[in-house]
Amino acid sequence: MDNPAQEHSLQIEGDVLHPDSDGYDEARAVWNAMIDRKPALIAQCRSTQDVAETLAFAGRHDYPVSIRGGGHNVAGHAVCDDGVMIDLSGMRNVSVDVEKRTARVAGGATWRDVDAASQPHGLVTPGGLISDTGVAGLTLSGGIGWLRSRYGLCIDNMLSVEIVTADGQIRRASEQENADLFWAVRGGGGNFGVITEFEFQLHPLGPEVMFCAPIYALDRGAEPIRFWRDFLADKNDRIGSLLEFSTVAEDDEFPREAWGKQVYTIAAVYAGDAEEGEQVMQPLRELGPMVTDFSGPMDYRELQQLFDTLMPAGQFRCYWKSHYLNGLSDAVIDEILEGVASVPSPNSLSSIWNFGGATAQPAADATAFGDRSMPWMFSIDSVWEGAENDEANIGWTRDLWARMQPHSHNGRMYLNFPGQGEEGDKLLQDTFGDNYQRLREIKAKYDPGNRFRFNQNIRPAA
Ligand SMILES: Cc1cc2nc3c(=O)[nH]c(=O)nc-3n(C[C@H](O)[C@H](O)[C@H](O)COP(=O)(O)OP(=O)(O)OC[C@H]3O[C@@H](n4cnc5c(N)ncnc54)[C@H](O)[C@@H]3O)c2cc1C
Repeated sequence: MDNPAQEHSLQIEGDVLHPDSDGYDEARAVWNAMIDRKPALIAQCRSTQDVAETLAFAGRHDYPVSIRGGGHNVAGHAVCDDGVMIDLSGMRNVSVDVEKRTARVAGGATWRDVDAASQPHGLVTPGGLISDTGVAGLTLSGGIGWLRSRYGLCIDNMLSVEIVTADGQIRRASEQENADLFWAVRGGGGNFGVITEFEFQLHPLGPEVMFCAPIYALDRGAEPIRFWRDFLADKNDRIGSLLEFSTVAEDDEFPREAWGKQVYTIAAVYAGDAEEGEQVMQPLRELGPMVTDFSGPMDYRELQQLFDTLMPAGQFRCYWKSHYLNGLSDAVIDEILEGVASVPSPNSLSSIWNFGGATAQPAADATAFGDRSMPWMFSIDSVWEGAENDEANIGWTRDLWARMQPHSHNGRMYLNFPGQGEEGDKLLQDTFGDNYQRLREIKAKYDPGNRFRFNQNIRPAA
C-alpha cells in the first residue's frame, strides 16, 4: 500500500499525484513548516463527484484519508503519511444570493474568497482573522472572528452543507435534512465527511468598520488590561476583541526605540457603524502612554487581510495551545503577564479573546460545539524558526498552558488551537461534555470504520 496511485487507478477530473509526480512536494506542504508528511496519493479534486470517487476508491482499498481545506491546521491534520490526501484547494468558488442574503462556499475556499464575493454587496458572514485560512477547517470546529460578538461563531451562521460521507454518498445536511449530521458538523470538525459546499447566512456590514489598535508596552503592566476587561463587560454584544502580546518587529511602522520590546495591542472591531464604533471604543485609546496606535476606520476586506503578513504560510514552525478561562481576575491577568514575559521567540503571539454576546446565545446542546458560557479564551501561539529551537518553544508553551490550567473553564479547549491534541480522548470528553456520546453515535452511523481520523478524532461508538 506504498503507492496506491500506481497499484490501483483513481480516475478523477482533477490531478492525482504520487510521490514522484511533479508538484507533489508543493501539494503536501501546509502552513506549519514543521509538518513533513508524505501521503501515498494526493487527489486534487475539482468537483463533488471527484471527492465521491476518491472516497469510494479509498474505501475499496482501505486507505485512510486526510482532508486539506486551507492547510492552516497547526497540528498539520490536512496531510497524512501513507494514506490518501483529498486536496480541495482547487474548489474555491463562492456565489452570493443578494436577495436571500446567503452565500454558497466551496469546501476549499479561504476567507479571502468569501469576503471578495460578499463585500461588493455590502454583506458579510463572520470569518477568521487571517484571510488565507480555510473556511472549512476553521468553521467545522466553531470559528472565532472579529464579528462573533454580534453574529456568533461561524457555525452559528451555517445554514446547510453538501457533504460526502465515508461511503462515497453525496448528502445534504441542514435543520430539515440529515439533521443529526448537521448538528455534528457544527463543532465536530472533519470527523463526518468531506464538506464540498457550505451555505452561510450573510449580514449587512461595511465596507467601512472601526478597528481599534492602541499598543501599550508590556511594562505598563496590568492597569490597561483591567480597564479593557471592565470596559467590555456591557459591550460583548458589539465588540469582538483580542488583547495580543507580541514583540515589536524592526519595522519602520513602529518607533525605533520600541523595536525588540514586548508590548500588547488592545485590538477590537465594532460590528456596526464605523463612526459610532470610533466613539464607543475611544476610551481604549486613552489609557496613558502608548507605543503607537494603529486605530482607524478601515475597509472590512483590508481589516481581514491586515495580519496576513505576520503569519506567512510555510515559513515558521508553530505550536499553538489554548484554554477557555473561567474568569479574568486581577490575579489571572498578573499570571498571564508574568508568563508571557519569558517568551523565547520574538515571533510568538499570545492572546486573550472575549466571548459573550451572540456567541453565548445557543444552548450547549444546540450544536456539537457545546457549552457557550466561557467568558474568555487565552491562546498561546508559539511561532519560531529553526528545528533546534523546537524544544524550547514547545516546552515554554506547555509550561505556560499548564500554569493556566487552574483557571480553565471546565478543562475545555478551542479545538482549532489544541497543540498536537496530546490530551486525546480526555480533551474531547472535557470539551464536548454531554455532547460527546451523541457525537460518537453519529460518527458510528456515518463513519463506522473511522476513515476520517486525521483530526481531533471522535472514535465511533461501539
Ligand atoms: C495563521 C492562522 C490564523 C488563524 N486564525 C484563526 C481565527 O482567527 N479564528 C479561528 O477560529 N481559528 C483560527 N485559526 C485556526 C484554524 O481555524 C485552524 O487551523 C483550522 O484547522 C484551519 O482550517 P483549514 O481549512 O485552513 O485547515 P486544513 O489544515 O486544511 O484542515 C484542517 C482540518 O479541517 C478539516 N477539514 C478541512 N477542510 C475540510 C472539508 N472541506 N470538509 C471536512 N473537513 C475538512 C479536516 O479534518 C482537516 O484535517 C488560525 C490558524 C492559522 C494558522
